[in-house]
Amino acid sequence: MLDNPRSHGLWEKTAPAPPATPRLEGSLSASVVIVGGGYTGLSAALHLAEAGTDIHLLEAAEIGFGGAGRNVGLINAGMWVMPDDFTRELGPAYGERALTLLGDGPALVRETIRKHYIDCELVENGTLHLAVGQDGLQELEERARQWQRRGAPVTILDAEETQRRVGSSAYAAALLDMRAGTLQPLAYARGLAHAAVKAGARLHTGSAVISTERNGNKHVLYTAHGKISADWVIVATDAYSTGPWAIMREEQVHLPYFNLATKPLSDNLLRSILPGREGCWDTRDILSSLRMDRAGRLIFGSVGALRGTGTGIHKSWAKRSLARLFPQLGDIEFEAEWYGQIGMTDNALPRLHRFDRNVIGFCGYNGRGIAPGTTFGRILARHILGQISEADMPLPLSDPKQPSLRGIKEAYYEAGAQIAHFAGERF
Ligand SMILES: Cc1cc2nc3c(=O)[nH]c(=O)nc-3n(C[C@H](O)[C@H](O)[C@H](O)COP(=O)(O)OP(=O)(O)OC[C@H]3O[C@@H](n4cnc5c(N)ncnc54)[C@H](O)[C@@H]3O)c2cc1C
Repeated sequence: MLDNPRSHGLWEKTAPAPPATPRLEGSLSASVVIVGGGYTGLSAALHLAEAGTDIHLLEAAEIGFGGAGRNVGLINAGMWVMPDDFTRELGPAYGERALTLLGDGPALVRETIRKHYIDCELVENGTLHLAVGQDGLQELEERARQWQRRGAPVTILDAEETQRRVGSSAYAAALLDMRAGTLQPLAYARGLAHAAVKAGARLHTGSAVISTERNGNKHVLYTAHGKISADWVIVATDAYSTGPWAIMREEQVHLPYFNLATKPLSDNLLRSILPGREGCWDTRDILSSLRMDRAGRLIFGSVGALRGTGTGIHKSWAKRSLARLFPQLGDIEFEAEWYGQIGMTDNALPRLHRFDRNVIGFCGYNGRGIAPGTTFGRILARHILGQISEADMPLPLSDPKQPSLRGIKEAYYEAGAQIAHFAGERF
């Protein structure tokens, strides 16, 4: 995509092909138009098409062009924020409803993958949230308590068990979440697209919505080569929003995040590094993540953009960090490198917006969009099908609003990551 190996990196190299999707041309009409070909839009498209709804999806670039094709592939249950923050911010009714749905999100992802035979390197061995020092351990203990009160299958592993599972002695403990897992994120998005097409959805790529107007109860969406009118519009453009709903991008602060993939490791190394193939991330403020792909490549990620001075700084920090974490790796070569922008909201919680009558969308998954996007996409479909009322949605409606000092925060994230990685005070 974009002819840029740093946009979708390894995922583009190893994902099965997407379905053939023409651009929107001429003048069409539909019951529902979905804007955005990531998890939210594709999940909504799949569920609406399965219910027999006449739907078209418009994607500006290609399927999985946004966060869906660039992420780490951790299928998380819940968000970065603590579970109790949901009820504190949203009240008990919305808070617990959202938590239940998000906790069940990975199961929906697995069910969807199985039902539609999606080949996306699904691994169901849980995730490890890795404690750095005593502060990290305390944070995980509190997180575990809050999830366990809600019956979630999470456990704290001691330093010895963590070392056995990770293959490194760098961590004080880990929180094992058996609801979670990993997948190949672009393969999952493309698999959802195939399933949606098979169910009857019509997908258009290279079809950025550039303007929209209201014609009575109909919404008319314009692209460079066509227009389409619909009764309902789902806006699923999230942090990569352009065009009429650019506010969805503007209400989020972009946090750059990169990934580097080694060559496939030898069988010997695979026995000592993540032998159980759990996906991992740590408790640092400038966090790092670790996971394997199906071929045994170790994928290491952290905050930062691989552009300008950042490329050299982040890559050399990553080599030093991996050498310290896993001395057994020896000389480390990266086979792929890429980065994307994670959309962060002010309160680190997702949002539900209604932009006009029958124009709705979720956004702001704060780096946790695989399961939430799949789940909330289905909820939007069910809402349109009349199966879920507005009062029963997992989040209250809110007006999009710009966060204060967005530009300064984005510059700070990027510069802060470069400084931290340049200084290398990491392990
Ligand atoms: C580097 C990185 C690492 C991440 N790691 C993880 C992880 O490990 N686990 C996890 O769960 N989540 C992770 N995330 C977050 C996750 O990728 C996103 O939350 C998720 O992709 C959001 O899905 P979405 O469908 O809402 O939006 P997206 O996947 O961003 O899709 C939005 C789509 O809308 C299209 N679009 C925008 N404007 C228009 C327009 N005007 N007309 C037509 N189309 C338009 C875009 O081209 C894009 O394809 C990560 C994100 C990044 C960037």
